[in-house]
Amino acid sequence: MPENGYTIKQVADILGGYASLTDGNSTVINLIIDSRKIAHPEASLFFALKGRNDGHNFLADVYKAGVRNFVVSNDKSLIGLADVNYIKLDNTLEALQHLVAVHRKGFKRDVIGITGSNGKTIVKEWLFQLLSVDKNIVRSPKSYNSQIGVPLSVWQLNQDANLGIFEAGISVPGEMAHLEEIIQPTIGILTNIGSAHDEGFTSKAQKVEEKLSLFKHCNLLIYSSKDVEGKEHLITSPNTFTWTFDASEQADLNVLSITKSKGKSVLVASFKDQQYSITIPFTDEAYIHNVVICWSTMICLGYNHEVIAQRMAELAAIEMRLKLRQGINNCTLINDSYNSDLASLEIALDFLHQQHQHHKRTVILSDIFQTGIPANQLYSKVAALLRSKKIDRLIAIGPQLNVFKSLFAPNSDFFESTAEFAEQFLNQNFNDETILLKGARSFGFERISKLLELKVHETVFEINLNALISNLNYFKSKLQPRTKMMAMVKAFSYGSGSYEIANVLQFHKVDYLAVAYVDEGADLRKAGIKLPIMVMSPEVSSFESLIEHNLEPEIYSFRIFKEFIAFLKNQGITEYRIHLKIDTGMHRLGFEEHQIDELLEMLGENPQIHIQSVFSHLAGSDEVKHDEFTHKQLNTLLRVCSKLEHALGYPFIKHTANSAAITRFPEAQLDMVRLGIGLYGIDSAIKNNFALQPIGTLKTTISQIREVPAGDSIGYNRRSSVDKPSRIATVKIGYADGYNRKLGNRVGSMLVNGQRAPIIGSVCMDMTMLDVTGIDCNETDEVIVFNDELRVEELADHVGTIPYELLTAISQRVKRIYVYE
Ligand SMILES: *Cc1c(COP(=O)(O)O)cnc(C)c1O
Repeated sequence: MPENGYTIKQVADILGGYASLTDGNSTVINLIIDSRKIAHPEASLFFALKGRNDGHNFLADVYKAGVRNFVVSNDKSLIGLADVNYIKLDNTLEALQHLVAVHRKGFKRDVIGITGSNGKTIVKEWLFQLLSVDKNIVRSPKSYNSQIGVPLSVWQLNQDANLGIFEAGISVPGEMAHLEEIIQPTIGILTNIGSAHDEGFTSKAQKVEEKLSLFKHCNLLIYSSKDVEGKEHLITSPNTFTWTFDASEQADLNVLSITKSKGKSVLVASFKDQQYSITIPFTDEAYIHNVVICWSTMICLGYNHEVIAQRMAELAAIEMRLKLRQGINNCTLINDSYNSDLASLEIALDFLHQQHQHHKRTVILSDIFQTGIPANQLYSKVAALLRSKKIDRLIAIGPQLNVFKSLFAPNSDFFESTAEFAEQFLNQNFNDETILLKGARSFGFERISKLLELKVHETVFEINLNALISNLNYFKSKLQPRTKMMAMVKAFSYGSGSYEIANVLQFHKVDYLAVAYVDEGADLRKAGIKLPIMVMSPEVSSFESLIEHNLEPEIYSFRIFKEFIAFLKNQGITEYRIHLKIDTGMHRLGFEEHQIDELLEMLGENPQIHIQSVFSHLAGSDEVKHDEFTHKQLNTLLRVCSKLEHALGYPFIKHTANSAAITRFPEAQLDMVRLGIGLYGIDSAIKNNFALQPIGTLKTTISQIREVPAGDSIGYNRRSSVDKPSRIATVKIGYADGYNRKLGNRVGSMLVNGQRAPIIGSVCMDMTMLDVTGIDCNETDEVIVFNDELRVEELADHVGTIPYELLTAISQRVKRIYVYE
């Protein structure tokens, strides 16, 4: 954010195009692209980007929020609005990028540009940890490294900063050129080139070439020669610095040895014929690789060895994800306490804002270590942000926040230190609220999260909300423009959660939700879900709750229809929406074609009934062998719909496609689709559909490990035994947690520190034994029951069932944790 910003007139001059300005002096400090994320409308410029959700569709919302400055390619809906300034040009994304490229030119200090297949964000965050002691750094928030994320990051550069660090990520050829123009790095870092075949690139050579183009104007490039083999001629930087782990190779920094013990690693390396060593608090190989990159960078920046060694010893792990878990007294806890700056505070507040399950929202915040802004301005901004995100209560911890008390709402609580807060902590002060914990690392907020977290037994189901969103967008991209999306959140969203999932779906604008029972729908309403909700198995006994919570019943038979009509009459209700289910061959629920005349007669007598939709369910849309049958079902539905529509005289939504049909039968998408299993990352039709990401990781821990001699039996009824001396680990998950008992006795396996350990003996109620012979593991180690590598589809195959059953069987005593990047 340039501190005084630009005027909209200056922006118009930079961008060219057609400008319609009512007030050319209007200030532009913030650039926004998302109508849901507006913090300072009066000083914001909205770019209407074409893309999945065309920004032009939200111009009215953005205007209503108070924004007056716009960059658009279509000005239809802006014409005539009071006080509007707008610039119209063909390509709004290019305009955003160009504006920031011009802004970047005004910054005369060093900018580090980072790219590579892995490690970009870790290297960036670690460089920030290592260098911010003596430098004012502006860096990309989280992993903002895309065509949109990069300009939004670089825009933050201001004259008080003396270093910028930005990461660049690409998915198809040609993208890096844009990012290079925006970042204009003076120092380049290539983290690595993965061997994995990237979607979007024809060869590894092409990928390397594209990545190197970020560095074409760099003064210095830091890299490992192995990554650029055969492409050395593309390195144009006048200065280079190389590192290697291979002693036989020539490099500037040559790692000679790595010794790991007790969670630490000692690295010895030679630089200019001298040996140096550093100790870091990690042992993970990928971490060590990234540490060496940071080490090289510090040498290049002129730091001496003592300073490097001292700062390396204090490196902290980077947790890039927000975690949502259950807290004490029915609270929900969002933990984001590894960094603190305005950009990441804003991201965390947005996430908090999406969560509607409790009326009350509390933020526990530490002093913010943001460089480049005077403290009074910084905390005014924080206060404005808290107001705009409708935070009910602030708990502020730290001497600086105490100084600026007067800026914050009067009901805020102030503490000098985390210790002071912990001493005065009262459990009963936190009730039925969503709490965001956001603190700089030095404040040690882990102590607070321990107080607020509900203690859970150590088997958890971790849900990746980014993967959920990515799956949703995948299916949205397969839809015809007019087709709506109903998300199936029945059965606790296929095991993954109720309002936590529904909140995300609501935020990402699905059109409808569907649940099986009224109770499920009522819970969603209580958690603040406003989307229309269809209930597939309404029961007469729950009609009252159904109506109270404005839920829409599926009517599938004359019996339930008559009961519902009687109930409406009794209550004096004169209009209600229902969904009609037609049986076209599944033979589960629904009216049959020959019953439609009688149904129409009843509808004629009951004008209070409004048909919101008419739908059917496909019996075998995931299997080619039933394709003819599927088409027959579709045709039957269309026949019934046209008869109903003709007779009723008004249109209704027609739908039949489940996940498999969305991709396999585009012609069955009709007005709406009902997305179920695909949302949760499982493709019921295509094996290994890499476009989908499994959203759940079920994990547990090892309680005990023992050595067992050859010949001994393991577990109940002595069903398994070992034929050689073996190591057996007992883990905390059993069939009462939903782990299928048929997986016992070497049918299934779990992942222990990345290796498969077969299950030995029968699965018990709360525990299972694994054969971990030859696997490096200890008691309390984490064990993966399934994830994106050991997939739930594989477990389902082993026991002759479908992933749906295994997912929905995970019992409620297994706590769900939600992560969001
Ligand atoms: C569960 C369900 C779906 C979703 O099916 P998936 O195969 O999970 O996509 C769609 N429609 C109805 C009526 C359902 O019961």
